Amino acid sequence: GDLWAFDPAPESADPKLQSRYQLFIGGKFVAPKSRRYFESINPATEKPLAEIALASAKDVDAAYAAATKAAPAWSALPGAERGKYLYRLARLLQDRAREFAVAETLDGGKPIKESRDFDVPMAAAHFFYHAGWADKLAYAFPGATPVPHGVVGQVIPWNFPLLMLAWKIAPALATGNTVVLKPAETTSITALKFAEIVMEAGVPAGVINIVTGAGETGAAVVNHPQAAKVAFTGSTDVGKHIMRSTAGTGKKLTLELGGKAANIVFDDAPIDQAVEGIVNGIFFNQGHVCCAGSRLLVQESVAAKVLTRLRLRVKNLRVGDPMDKNTDIGAINSKAQLDKITELVAAGVDEGAEIYQPECTLPSPGWFFKPTLFSGVEQSHRIAREEIFGPVLSILTFRTTEEAIEKANNSAYGLSAGVWTDKGSRILKMSTALKAGVVWANTYNKFDPASPFGGYKESGFGREGGKQGLADYVKLT
Ligand code: NAD
Repeated sequence: GDLWAFDPAPESADPKLQSRYQLFIGGKFVAPKSRRYFESINPATEKPLAEIALASAKDVDAAYAAATKAAPAWSALPGAERGKYLYRLARLLQDRAREFAVAETLDGGKPIKESRDFDVPMAAAHFFYHAGWADKLAYAFPGATPVPHGVVGQVIPWNFPLLMLAWKIAPALATGNTVVLKPAETTSITALKFAEIVMEAGVPAGVINIVTGAGETGAAVVNHPQAAKVAFTGSTDVGKHIMRSTAGTGKKLTLELGGKAANIVFDDAPIDQAVEGIVNGIFFNQGHVCCAGSRLLVQESVAAKVLTRLRLRVKNLRVGDPMDKNTDIGAINSKAQLDKITELVAAGVDEGAEIYQPECTLPSPGWFFKPTLFSGVEQSHRIAREEIFGPVLSILTFRTTEEAIEKANNSAYGLSAGVWTDKGSRILKMSTALKAGVVWANTYNKFDPASPFGGYKESGFGREGGKQGLADYVKLT
């Protein structure tokens, strides 16, 4: 958003990638005990970008030992001192903004205009915001003493690699916890570049540890006996598994999981603005967004008009090289994700929904998918129920407000929703009736570190951002 935008330092856009990245444990880069590495692939070229260390359970042990050792001194620091480190991290992210944006785009496939204008500035904003809380915890929790949990195990997904890291690390550090964080296996590079600025900022050794690897490494992070709290963002399937594996351990758990958000357009909505919001809601970051407005519910009387405008708008979206500043839709993050999207789109056609894709040539090599609209979708269709996590919009219609509410809430998920209408009273009614953690009105995908984000139902529990987000990182005594 504009509020947090800043001019990246006018330095070179060279992401300064290393050919090989090590683990970051106890304030140093260290080789994995297994000596094993895996490749991080550029999804726009299918070529390897760098080798990433594969952390085994022994490496995860070492990371927890470092985090446990660092915890007492870190939590005993005056809040203002912890805040200084967070401010430093925020400023260093700004100083190296271009480099981080380029690395994020090369590794993950998202358009450079998004990593430049959204991911990196928002990550810095999260550190600035939480730096401000570090010495004000007594005001956040009046009448109680907030005590950190100790060591927090954090596992994050690939759709917003640096931003999800910021959502996890900033509140944990502000409240006096130390962390062991595992990025997703397809997007580890910006987390390891972040480790470079952790060293530069002089953050005490062991306060932040980064271990890389796939699900097995993630399970070792989650199940480690020294993890006092586990914070997970990822799929609902893995989230359910983690809930079972941490049950009875006394670990504090927060889960930020999938979504199938309803973006609801009433007949009195400003249609042009709504169409922009629908496009942004589903095509931002190739639709790899947990809160993507992936189910459009449009009032029957304006459905034809909205669909015509949407098709025109989608025809003009540019799909292609994520490094091109004019690209709207970049690469799909992995082959596995491309296969999943392809399979669900085929199911949509099989089940009888009407598909629209613009005529355009997709780059090759590279993993790309055309922006896709499905109209005539019914609630029973898989594309109306399952998270596609790609640039695919399912369009359903409704007649009355009650029907809109019923259809929107008819989902196993409940992360976010959007409402487009000219009526203020309707916005108020919808925002309480919708079972969603976030409800946007006449806008979509607006974020601010001060606004708590999180789900209902199978979208998880716990909040990130705002005072509510801090609360999940402390015990109140
Ligand atoms: P995923 O669940 O496959 O992987 C997420 C992370 O968990 C990765 O780092 C992965 O290596 C790790 N992991 C895999 N198996 C594990 C296990 N058994 N134990 C511990 N860790 C394990 O999800 P993904 O495909 O990377 O991300 C997409 C999902 O994330 C989508 O469902 C999306 O909606 C969700 N998401 C939610 C939010 C939110 O705030 N609610 C934000 C972003 C993404």
